[in-house]
Amino acid sequence: MVINFNNVPGTREEMLALQEKGLVWTVKHAYENCDFYRKKLDDAGVSPGDIKSLDDISKLPFTEKQDLREAYPFGLMSVPERDIIRIHASSGTTGKKTVAYYTRQDLDDWMEMMARCWHFAGITPEDRVQITVGYGLWTAGVGFQLGIERLGAMAIPVGPGGNELQMEMLIDLGATAICCTSSYALLLAEEVNKQGVQDKIKLRVGVIGSERWGKKMRARIEELLNIETFDIIGMTETYGPGTGIDCHVHEGIHYWSDYLIFEIIDPVTGIEVPPGEEGEMVVTTMRKEGMPLIRYRTRDITRQIIEECPCGSPFFRIDRILGRTDDMFKFRGVLVYPGQIDQMISEMEGLNCEYQVILKRDQGRDSMLLRVECTQDFCGDRSELAEEFLRMTKAKVGVSPQVEIVDCQCLPRTERKAKRVFDERDI
Ligand code: ZN
Repeated sequence: MVINFNNVPGTREEMLALQEKGLVWTVKHAYENCDFYRKKLDDAGVSPGDIKSLDDISKLPFTEKQDLREAYPFGLMSVPERDIIRIHASSGTTGKKTVAYYTRQDLDDWMEMMARCWHFAGITPEDRVQITVGYGLWTAGVGFQLGIERLGAMAIPVGPGGNELQMEMLIDLGATAICCTSSYALLLAEEVNKQGVQDKIKLRVGVIGSERWGKKMRARIEELLNIETFDIIGMTETYGPGTGIDCHVHEGIHYWSDYLIFEIIDPVTGIEVPPGEEGEMVVTTMRKEGMPLIRYRTRDITRQIIEECPCGSPFFRIDRILGRTDDMFKFRGVLVYPGQIDQMISEMEGLNCEYQVILKRDQGRDSMLLRVECTQDFCGDRSELAEEFLRMTKAKVGVSPQVEIVDCQCLPRTERKAKRVFDERDI
C-alpha cells in the first residue's frame, strides 16, 4: 500500500491547527506571487498579516467563477511558468474554459488524494478499474488513472467509448471496479440488465461522480449491477476529481481536510451558516502552488456534518451534494433545489429515479410540470400515484406542480451530465 496516513492529524483540533497553517501559507503565497490575488486583497483592504487564525478567513474576499474566466488563461498562476508541468481545462458550457495549472507537487498531491479515494472505496492492487470518463483537457480520466496507478491497481483507460466498447471491455477484461457519471452508470446498468449478462460481469465497486444523484438512482444502479457505489467529488478548480468520497458507512462525504478548507455560506448574504445548515460550499486550498484558491465559491449546495464518522476517519465530512446554486429555481416565490425532488422520489414507493421539471409562464402566471418515471413493475393507478406525489411536494417543498407519471425508462438517459430542469419562462 503506497498511501501513508501516518502524517494525517488524528484529532479535530490537530486538523484545525494544520488548516490554520495552510490558510496562512496560501494567503501569503498568493499575495506575494499573483497579481490577481494581490489586487483582490488590496481592494478588500486585507493584507496577509491580517490572517493569523482560521476565524480570519471571513475577512478574505471570495473568488468566483467569473474571476477565473476573466483571468483566462494564466491570470491565477502563482509560480514561475517553468515550474508548471501540466495544465487542464474545464468543459465550460458558456464562454471561455477555466484553465488550471499544476506544479509537480500539485500533481503529486492530487494523485495522493485520488489514491485515498480508491482506498476508501476498498480498491486494492488486486483490482481492475475501468475508466469510462473523458481524457484530454478534462481532469477526469487522467485524475482517476493517476490514483489507480498510485494505489497499484490496474487501470483500464477506455474513456467515453460508447456502450458497445464499454460492455466488451467490461466482460472480456473482467473489471472489478468502474468509474463513471451517475447517468452513465444507470445507462450501463440498464444495458447489462437488458442483455442479461449480469453473470459475466465481475464488478463489485462503482466510483461515481461529476453530478448530483439521488438515493433512488443510487439504489437502482447498485441493484442492477450488484455493486457498492461511492460518491466522489471534485472539480477542475480544486485539482480535479478526488477531493472527497464517502466511506463504507455511506453517511456523507469525507473530504481531504489536510489539503482543503471547506466553508458553507448563505449563497445570498455570503455569511457562514450555522454548523450543519445547508448552504453553498466554499473552498480554500492549503498547499496548492500553481493555482491556489482563496474562498472559491463552488455553487454546490451541501452542509457540514460535525459528528465524528462511525468509520473513525479523522477527515472532516460534508453531506452529499444537494444541488447547485445555478440549478436552484424559484417557483412562485419558493426556492427549490433539484435535490429536494430526488429526496422525495426516493421516499415514495412506485417511482423510478428519473424526472424532469418544466417551468413555463403563461399570461404572467408560472406553471411547473413535474414528470416522474414509475417503476417497471408498477401496475397501480397512475393518477393516484401522481396525487400522492403532489401532496408530498406541497408538504415538503411548499409548491404545487402538475405531476405526470410516465413510463419507466422513457425519460432521456445520457453519457454526459443529465439536464433535468427546463426553465422555459421568459425572464
Ligand atoms: Zn466515514
